[in-house]
Amino acid sequence: MNLELSGEQTAARRLAADFVDREIAPHAARWDREESVDRAIVGRLGALGFLGLTIPEQYGGSAGDHLTYCLVLEELGRGDSAVRGIVSVSLGLVAKSIHHFGTEEQKRTWLTRLVAGEALGCFALTEPGTGSDAAQLRTRAVRDGSDWVLSGTKMFITNGTWAEVALVFARTGGEGHRGITAFLVPTDSPGFTAREIHGKLGLRGQATAELVLDGVRVPDSARLHAEGKGFTVAMAALAKGRMSVAAGCVGLAKACLDAAVGYATQREQFGKPIAAHQLVQELLADIALDVEAARLLVWRVADLVDRGEDFAVASSQAKLFASEAAVRAADRAVQVFGGYGYIDEFPVGKYLRDAKVMTLYEGTSQIQKLLIGRALTGVAAF
Ligand SMILES: Cc1cc2nc3c(=O)[nH]c(=O)nc-3n(C[C@H](O)[C@H](O)[C@H](O)COP(=O)(O)OP(=O)(O)OC[C@H]3O[C@@H](n4cnc5c(N)ncnc54)[C@H](O)[C@@H]3O)c2cc1C
Repeated sequence: MNLELSGEQTAARRLAADFVDREIAPHAARWDREESVDRAIVGRLGALGFLGLTIPEQYGGSAGDHLTYCLVLEELGRGDSAVRGIVSVSLGLVAKSIHHFGTEEQKRTWLTRLVAGEALGCFALTEPGTGSDAAQLRTRAVRDGSDWVLSGTKMFITNGTWAEVALVFARTGGEGHRGITAFLVPTDSPGFTAREIHGKLGLRGQATAELVLDGVRVPDSARLHAEGKGFTVAMAALAKGRMSVAAGCVGLAKACLDAAVGYATQREQFGKPIAAHQLVQELLADIALDVEAARLLVWRVADLVDRGEDFAVASSQAKLFASEAAVRAADRAVQVFGGYGYIDEFPVGKYLRDAKVMTLYEGTSQIQKLLIGRALTGVAAF
């Protein structure tokens, strides 16, 4: 693995860092309080090429490798995890799936708009009754002539009230993962409703929704990949998606480090900056170590992807470590801030609230351990 960044990678990272410092970080606390990111940010993400990373230029994408993608997502994660999540889902889970599995017509209809930021995508796998065990999902798609009619409920869907297209996983055949098919469903279809979920612990600025599909009719041309191959689409998307969550976690942990170092060198107790107390330095050193270790795991996955090697287990490892590291980093940052870490005048409390979900979505920490354990032993313990 080459740890030296190319000129293009460095330029993309700098572009993202400047964008974060100017257009995201100054607003993140307000978006969190108001429970809504400014929607105009989507157009800006598109204009800067951040919604088209790794997608070929023929579809309007900004191309580039997966390390560049991770560098940008780290910066976005440093600015605001809610914004990073918009990109991880619309580009990472939806646009990349269309690019990989879609027909030319689907790419022309959706991919070009998604990468431009003219449309957003959401990824609708989880249901009220099925989270970790997604293969048991119950949303149904029934054939009616040349159409499919979809009915069911999806839960906790990121971008759910904002998206123009939903990548919906529905049961078209028998039980288990073989009976699932993926569909690209326009969210303005009759029978499709999205209800925003409020009261989240973190990621409050992000639109998370419950989706209800009540007899939603789509043509067969809306089917993504073959009938019965929906689970393959979902798992392929999540394998890379975990890398992007992990990259965002590195950024979040870095934001914790920056805030904690800044505060520790300013705040004085016992007649000197708290940074001069060894136990405070220990907190800072532990955060810094987590940032560096998580980043190396992320870069390793990106390198495997770019070289066409197997990356799924490395992606689970990176996601598991980086998400737990982000929670540890945020917890330690709050500790450095003392009581001031507990009020929203400072950002570290938000970091802690935002970090927790990283250990839950795109496969909980327990599920990542089971995936790693299965790869080690050949035995599925779930
Ligand atoms: C803010 C937010 C955004 C989200 N965005 C999306 C999205 O865009 N699209 C989407 O499809 N989903 C999304 N999700 C859903 C998310 O992926 C699920 O919440 C997650 O997969 C866990 O499912 P669950 O909540 O049903 O928990 P459950 O599966 O019920 O798990 C509950 C607990 O049991 C543990 N557990 C379950 N099975 C096992 C096992 N075999 N062994 C050991 N422990 C086990 C879990 O680790 C967890 O600790 C989002 C969730 C949140 C909170």
